[in-house]
This record gives sequence, structure tokens and C-alpha cells, in this order.
Amino acid sequence: MITLGILGSTGSIGTQALQVVEALPEKIKVSALTGGSNAKLLATQALKFRPRMVAIAEKNRYPELKRLLARTGIEILAGEDGLTAVATDPGSKTILAAIVGSAGLKPTLAAIRAGKRVALANKETLVMAGSLVQNEKKISGAEILPVDSEHSAIWQCLAAGRKKEVKSLILTASGGPFWTWSKAKMNRVTVQEALKHPNWAMGAKITVDSATMMNKGLEILEAKWLFDLPLAKIRVLIHPESIVHSLVEFIDGAVIAQLGRPDMRLPIQLALTYPYRLETSWPRLSLAGKSLTFEEPDNNRFPSLELARKAGMAGGTAPAALNAANEIAVGEFLKGNLPFVKIPWVVEQVLDRHQVDPEPTLATILRVNNWAQDQARCIIAKG
Ligand code: NAD
Ligand code: MG
Repeated sequence: MITLGILGSTGSIGTQALQVVEALPEKIKVSALTGGSNAKLLATQALKFRPRMVAIAEKNRYPELKRLLARTGIEILAGEDGLTAVATDPGSKTILAAIVGSAGLKPTLAAIRAGKRVALANKETLVMAGSLVQNEKKISGAEILPVDSEHSAIWQCLAAGRKKEVKSLILTASGGPFWTWSKAKMNRVTVQEALKHPNWAMGAKITVDSATMMNKGLEILEAKWLFDLPLAKIRVLIHPESIVHSLVEFIDGAVIAQLGRPDMRLPIQLALTYPYRLETSWPRLSLAGKSLTFEEPDNNRFPSLELARKAGMAGGTAPAALNAANEIAVGEFLKGNLPFVKIPWVVEQVLDRHQVDPEPTLATILRVNNWAQDQARCIIAKG
């Protein structure tokens, strides 16, 4: 039996993971759930899946959650300590890290330190603290299995050869809703337009990241740490159909790809049930009549990808600063306080001001995260 704790069960990945669990009742038991602030949904999930413990990040929602789960015998926790308790509880052998943004770092790292199998959706953890995560993983013996569809695809493709035979990883990107838009038209992007992803239904932050292509920037950094390869070997191709989820090129010229419908339940399930593939009843890929197209990225209209690569090359704390600035810029765009095209501009400004620490501790990374968030807020406020 797989015992599963979900960090971020009320989100897009979290709710899809619960659909996977629902289809595999004899294989997976939910042992713990956490949410950010939606106590109602968290309680509904808890009443259905009967975990041993539940935690809510926002402490002022604790009384509501306690009331909704009264007399159930479920342990109810709150705040950062509550999330850490869930991440490290011996009752869960597997932790799905599905919190969005930098808030996911501490609980995900706690799960890694506790030696869990970590199914990783929260890419920001690796972007911010990849080196630290790899060290902690070695010490604790934790496993990190990718949930992000591109990284799951690469992981599956890598089974076709040896690591030293890998020439390059090719991450695909849909290009987002503005791939065909002119630069002039992109000046007038609305929040509503940015939240309409052509192929995937996801949380708001990653949907905007997909529209700016920062998501692919974060993903090349995620791939670097997951697969222990230099950024020079990690490429990106635009593939608007989102059917080829990513590819691996080997030294003999063979290119292996993983294909599927754009449905996160597959990579979620594989990360949970690995090394086994289990039958699913979801709609399946049918290729007849479909065309698959590929193009090079456009760094002129979408500068975020290269900003991320630059931060990755600088290393140390630079990716944490990039991630934090982006998080604030996206948040302010969603509130209507920043034009869409200014998101990469804010990130660049913060990176320019940042003094890189090449070998940061966790405390340094968290300090840089706060510093870069403050800088981004300042830059946006000044216009
Ligand atoms: P989401 O916004 O739908 O859900 C985020 C979850 O995190 C929710 O449960 C929310 O309550 C919780 N949360 C938010 N702020 C929190 C805080 N401060 N403290 C604790 N919990 C908090 O996001 P999502 O789309 O499910 O994405 C989750 C992660 O998975 C992100 O890192 C994203 O990049 C990654 N990811 C998502 C998809 C997808 O299809 N949605 C695909 C690939 C990767
Ligand atoms: Mg992805």
C-alpha cells in the first residue's frame, strides 16, 4: 500500500492527484492532506479520503477547519509547523509536493530530509535550492520523482539509454496563449487572456508563467538538478499541440519522445506508483489525423526563458532571486498592478541588483527570496 501525504491538495495538481487515488483505492491510501487557505475544500477532501492528519497553512482558518472536522478523529494542524509535521510524518512514505511557489520550499525540503519518496510538482523548490536539495537527498536517501509533465517525459525517455549516452534534453513548450501574437498586441494583454492556456488547465501562477515562458525557464533549471546535466545540454522547442511532452537526444542521433494527451494525471500516477505502470480509464491519445509541429523559441517576444538561463549560468542564489521576483511580478499582474510585458522587466531589474552568493545555505536562500520579493515590490510601486 502506498501511503500518501499531499502538500497542496486543494490546488490543481492536488485535486488531480486525488482523482488518481480515487481510481486506485487498493493501491494508494491518503494519509495526510494540506491546503493554503481553502478550509472548506480541505475539509470536504478529508471527509472523503479520511487521512490521519490535515494541515492548513493560513492559521486564521484553523478554527473553521477544526469545526468542519469536529468528531472525526482527524488530527488538525496549522501554519508552517503543521505543514512540516505532515511532510515528515512516518505515516506517509510518499509525499506529493504540490504547493505553488516559494512557499513549497520548506515543507518539500523537510520531506526530503525525512527520506521520503517525493513526487515533485513544486518546481520552485529545485529552482531556488537545487544544490541543497541534492545534498540533503544524498544524506537522507530520499527519492525525487518528477511530476512536471516535461520532466516525467524525459525521465521516461532516459530509460532508453545510459546517462553518458545523452546528447541533449529537449523540453517542449506550448508557447502559451500569445505564441502567435505580435509584440505590439502583447502590450495590451489582459489578465483574462493570460489565464486562458490553450491546452492545459492549471493554477493561476503557472498559467501566467506559461504565457511569459518563464515556466519553461524554471523548467530548464528544474531539469538541470533532476537529471544532473549542464544547462548547455538542455534545449527548448515550441510545440503548440502539447502532445510530445519532451524528448531526449542520444549520442548516436536517436531521439526518443514521450507522447500523451495533456493530462497531468498520467505523470502524477507514474510518480506515485513507480516502478509500476497501472491501467487507467482516462481518454487515450489518438494520433490519426493530428499534426505535430515544432519551432525554435522567440527570445525577443518572450525574454523570460533566457533570463532564467542566465540566472542558471550565474548559479548560487541567482535562480532564487529570479524565482522570487517573478512570483511577485506575476502576483501584481494578476491584481492588475503590472502590465504583462513588464513581468520579465521586473525580473531583470532584480537580477541586475542581486549580488550572487555562490554556495548559499538554506538561511541565505530564504533571505535572498525575501530580499528579491521586496525589491520587486519596490520596482513595481515606482513604475
Ligand atoms: P494551485 O495554485 O492550483 O495550487 C497550489 C496549492 O498550494 C493549493 O493547495 C494552495 O492551497 C497551496 N498553497 C498556496 N499558497 C500556499 C502557502 N503560502 N502555503 C501553503 N500552501 C499554499 O497550483 P498548481 O497549478 O496545482 O501548481 C502547484 C505546483 O505544481 C506549482 O509549483 C506548479 O509549478 C507545479 N505544476 C503544476 C502543473 C499543473 O498542471 N497545475 C503542472 C506542472 C507543474
Ligand atoms: Mg511543465
